Parts: sequence; C-alpha cells; structure tokens
Amino acid sequence: MGDISSGSSNSCVKIPDIKFTKLFINGEFVDAVSGNTLETIDPRNGEVIARVAEGNKDDINLAVKAARRAFDHGPWPRMSGYERGRVMMKLADLIDEHVEELAALDTMDAGKLFERGKSLDIPEAAHCLRYYAGAADKIHGATLKMSSAMQGYTLREPIGVVGHIIPWNFPTTLFFMKVAPSLAAGCTMVVKPAEQTPLSALYYAHLSKLAGIPEGVLNVVTGYGHTAGAAIASHMDIDKVSFTGSPEVGRLVMQAAATSNLKPVTLELGGKSPLIIFDDADVDTAAELAIEGGLYNKGEICVAGSRVLVQEGIYEKMTRKLVEKAKNWVVGDPFHPDVQQGPQVDKQQYEKILSYIKSGREEGADLLVGGEPCGEKGYYIAPTIFSDVKDDMKIAKDEIFGPVMSLMKFKTIDDAIQRANATRYGLAAGIVTKNIDIANTVSRSIRAGTIWINCYFAFDCDAPVGGYKISGFGREQGLDGLYAYTQLKSVVTPLYNSPWL
Ligand code: ADP
Repeated sequence: MGDISSGSSNSCVKIPDIKFTKLFINGEFVDAVSGNTLETIDPRNGEVIARVAEGNKDDINLAVKAARRAFDHGPWPRMSGYERGRVMMKLADLIDEHVEELAALDTMDAGKLFERGKSLDIPEAAHCLRYYAGAADKIHGATLKMSSAMQGYTLREPIGVVGHIIPWNFPTTLFFMKVAPSLAAGCTMVVKPAEQTPLSALYYAHLSKLAGIPEGVLNVVTGYGHTAGAAIASHMDIDKVSFTGSPEVGRLVMQAAATSNLKPVTLELGGKSPLIIFDDADVDTAAELAIEGGLYNKGEICVAGSRVLVQEGIYEKMTRKLVEKAKNWVVGDPFHPDVQQGPQVDKQQYEKILSYIKSGREEGADLLVGGEPCGEKGYYIAPTIFSDVKDDMKIAKDEIFGPVMSLMKFKTIDDAIQRANATRYGLAAGIVTKNIDIANTVSRSIRAGTIWINCYFAFDCDAPVGGYKISGFGREQGLDGLYAYTQLKSVVTPLYNSPWL
C-alpha cells in the first residue's frame, strides 16, 4: 500500500452539520412512509456521515402527486418566463451564499476535491441556473409557412412532470444540469439523487423553498435505485425521465418507460473516451491534458479521457512524462488544498476498479505506475497507467470510472480514427494537434457527442452534451437541453378566404 497525503490542513475547513436528512415533498421535509433510513458513508474512512430517509415507491407516489398538482393547478407553469427566471436567479444567489457548505457536503459524500467544489462545481451550478433563468422568457415557437390558406404557429409548452435520476459522481453539477432547464421550461419534478450522495440535493431543496419556488414544483426523494428510481421510471403520471448513469440501468429505465406510459427518456450512459495526441503536439501541453483527462475527479467522470492514443513518434516521450506526472499526483484527503485526488466514492466502486486493474495485468497490458490501493483507511487508489493496451482488453472496452489510464500507440490518422471509434461508447473525444486539417478531419470522423480540440473538459452551459451509441441519446445543456423539457404543439386556423370557412 502506498502513502497518501494526510490532509493536515483539514482543521481549517469547517465540516458542516448535516441539517437536511428527510425527503422534500410538496415544500416540506418529511420522513419516508416506511420510516426507514439509509446510511450515507464518508469514503475517506468508511464511516457513517448521517442517515437519510429511504424513500421508496410510496414516497415517489406522494412526490409525483404533489408535482402533478403543482403542474396542473399551481402557479409555476402559468407564471411568465420572466417571473420564473427571477426566482431561479434568487436560488442562484442563495447557492453563492453557501458555496463552502455545499462544497463540503459533496466532499464528504463523494470524496470530491473541496477546492474544486468551491471554485468550480458549486459556482457553476449557480451559473447554470442563471443561464436557464435568462432563457426562461425566450422559449418561442415559430410562425409556420403553411401551403394552404391557413395560419399556423407552434407553441413550446412545458412537458409536464419530470423525473430526474442522478448519479453520484457530480451530485451538484448533474442536479442542476437537469433541474435548471426543466424549471425554466415550467415543469415540475421529482429528483432522486444517488443513494451514495444525497446530502447536497436535500440542501438545494431547502434553498429552493427560500428562493420562492412554489410547493410541489421541486421534490427530492432520496432512496435506492431499484426501489425509488425504478418507481420514477415506471410511474404512469411522470411525463418524462432524465437519467444519467450506467448503460445497464439506462436500459431498465427505458424499458420501464416503454412499458408504462411510453414517456420519453433522455439517457446519458457514460463513455470510454479517446484522447488522441498527434506527433506535432506540444508534449507538455498534451501530457497535462492527458493527466487531467484521465485522473480528474479520480476518474469518476463519464467523459474521462481513459483511452490515450498517442502517435508513435512521441509515444515514448509522452509515456515518460505521464508516468512522472502520475508519480507526483497527490492522493489524499480531499479537503486538503494540495491534494489532487480523493477517495473513490464507495467500497463497491473501489473494488470494481481494483478488479479492472487486475484484469489489465492478466490480459498482458504493461503496468507502468500505480495499480494498488493507497492509505490505511478509506477508498484510495493510486493513479494507474497501463501501456501497450489492445482494443480488445477489458480495460480498453469497459468504463472503469477510476484513476486508470490506458495508453495506446497509433501510426496514421486513419489508424487513430479507427481505434478511437473502436468502442461501444460515444460520449466525448479529445484531439491534440497543431494541424487544423487533422483537427477538422478527425473531429468529423469520430462518433461522439462532444469533441475537444486542444483542450479537455471544456464544458459550458451553452454547449450541449450527450451520447452517440451506448452513451445514450438526448442532449443536456444549451438550448437543446431546455427544449428537451418542452412539447411542441402546432396550432392551425383558417384564413378568411379558406375553403374551410
Ligand atoms: P453508477 O454505475 O454510476 O452507480 P447507476 O446507473 O447504478 O450508476 O445509478 C445511477 C442512478 O440510477 C442512481 O441514482 C441509482 O440509484 C439509480 N438507479 C439504479 N438502479 C435503478 C433502477 N433499476 N431504476 C431506476 N434508477 C436506478
């Protein structure tokens, strides 16, 4: 076992009291109908942080009832987009006022870096709210050019009651990526955070009430996937489900949606994204992008650049740089400002990653660095790099969701394109080159929803994200992400000289 940074400056971070542990239904915090609770665990040490209400089907039914009432009779879908936007702006301001506390909750729950939470995840959530608040009064239909003597136009209406099912790796970011556009559209909703990371979602529920979001509009039900999550997917009175998680569960959600009320689904189901580095790249810049792309958020990010394809001319040099960087990568207490990588989210994920590392060794990949747990307690894994990884190895095919990078060597542009596409996934890709022709050709040839050229993780509220292939379908962020929560209605009426009159 390797060492980890002890996080001695931990003491300067105020660990927040856990204030909200109950379900948030119809504007009130309530116990689960069953009275059951579930433990949420600190991955730094495996200890229980708090017990939160364990919602199941009965609680989802109550939350949907509240959301239905709020949609069919409440003020939210009926108020002007401008008014909705103002309330959302207020919520964004409240988030800004509680940045440290919110970042600390996600650090405790998910092992995420506190500094990044403070500087990125939480402020970006407020940004996302403001982006969609600004769009709430600009949701237009179109005037139609009818071919007969008719007048026609389209209306964009809120889709109705939405179910949001959220994973544990970005509890705040993914909450608002779903909640902000659906609020702006005038929907009401039931949100189920992941069972591993329920704390910040309940805090956001509290802030939503303070901001003036009316009762029943935003309901948060904490609980397990196979009970509470499944109840959302199959609910007859939910009009749309937005799910982010694994392809296996995505399939279940889609099946349940199909066999219940045929509700539409947006599915974001992970990736196995290539970062393609060409010979002409600046090696230092490329190495920096590769290491961040592979290790950021301990690799627990669906767009991780987990397959690093390097052209043969710089392969050896790049390998040396990456190994050096991985050796200096600081693993430890995520509250410590110098730490670059905290613990994996839970024991199950930790064990899954270690089993992938074992399979990489067994299948003959060359382990250059890492490959082991580190620390005496908690779920820490050393940054791990395999070289000479072949496309058919498990570590090249499956989404590991851990700090494990696979290096692969390629010769030509065609070779790079073919190998980049040799995956069932299609979420994102990175290209590092100074040659504009290569950048343009490769970006058009890769079947993935997002391409980053000479950058990585370049997210923006205005840039839609989503998958090709088994990475799912539908787009989040940008105006496409807003329209995903609307229905398009055509309205047609005859003109005075119409044969209909
Ligand atoms: P991960 O592999 O990231 O843990 P999952 O797909 O298992 O992702 O979980 C993502 C979210 O889906 C979580 O909120 C989880 O509780 C929920 N979930 C798990 N199983 C189901 C299910 N059968 N139906 C609906 N939601 C589920």
